[in-house]
Amino acid sequence: MNRRHFLQLLATLGVAGCWGSYKAYATTSSAKARVLIIGGGAAGLSMAARLNSVLETPDITLIDPSNEQFYQPGFTMIAGGIYSPDEVKKPQSACIPSGVKWVKEKVVSIDPVTSKVKASDGNTYVYDFLVLTPGLQMNFDQVEGISRSTLGVGNAHCMYDYQGAQNTWKALQEFSQKGGAGVFTNTFTKLKCGGAPKKITMLTDDYCRRNKTRDKISVTYYNASKDLFDTPYYAGRLEEIFKERDLNICPQHRLTGVDTASKKV
Ligand SMILES: Cc1cc2nc3c(=O)[nH]c(=O)nc-3n(C[C@H](O)[C@H](O)[C@H](O)COP(=O)(O)OP(=O)(O)OC[C@H]3O[C@@H](n4cnc5c(N)ncnc54)[C@H](O)[C@@H]3O)c2cc1C
Repeated sequence: MNRRHFLQLLATLGVAGCWGSYKAYATTSSAKARVLIIGGGAAGLSMAARLNSVLETPDITLIDPSNEQFYQPGFTMIAGGIYSPDEVKKPQSACIPSGVKWVKEKVVSIDPVTSKVKASDGNTYVYDFLVLTPGLQMNFDQVEGISRSTLGVGNAHCMYDYQGAQNTWKALQEFSQKGGAGVFTNTFTKLKCGGAPKKITMLTDDYCRRNKTRDKISVTYYNASKDLFDTPYYAGRLEEIFKERDLNICPQHRLTGVDTASKKV
């Protein structure tokens, strides 16, 4: 299989663009190639599954050290008390499509000249085609005063990971009981979900209203950019909803530091 053929195949699968259709998914290919996928999150797994079903003689290896698979949009629901933590977690072994070889290691280097990948076990893997789906890295310590391991100290929470989502849910309930000023914010960098910070703001409001504690809390949403959402169609209505619910919006504010001792940002 040459590069052109591989890209055509991706297009047929709908992964190299958005023009795939269910009819196109039914296409099969007799092409032969060693496909190596780095990262077995939603992106890597769906790539593996689709190539596995389309190639007549698939030779697919997926490299990922993680034992667990998380449905990450569910983190917001955990933080809002709608999902229980168990609902979003599965063993990775249950998610790997059958026939796909899983190497439970971390990739430490890639040599595109020789088409080789080195893993943390010291082994080298040769590929004809390499798919990179390692996800996003979260650098909490780029914000002064916090780090991933100290999240939760001084009531500074983030629900962008599994544990953080559970801690946020506890904090939300306490916030509703005790009352106070709630500061919600997002990041100006690339982030895993642009909607999630707004969702947890509204879920907090909703929880307090249902528990008749809304008058005990104030909510301010500090937004990194000018508009609440990139898509104007949603931004307008979202702003209306925030106003209707008395959720203050401060646009164009970037979080640079948190003083967890005095609870100031
Ligand atoms: C709170 C939250 C809410 C969200 N809400 C929504 C939503 O409502 N709608 C929506 O569409 N999306 C939402 N998302 C985004 C969506 O969940 C992610 O975009 C998606 O899960 C990312 O999948 P991924 O496979 O690209 O990356 P990841 O899930 O990060 O997977 C990457 C994988 O690569 C592996 N990896 C990394 N480095 C290496 C290496 N060197 N060697 C081998 N393996 C490696 C990791 O172990 C990991 O398993 C949300 C995300 C979060 C966190």
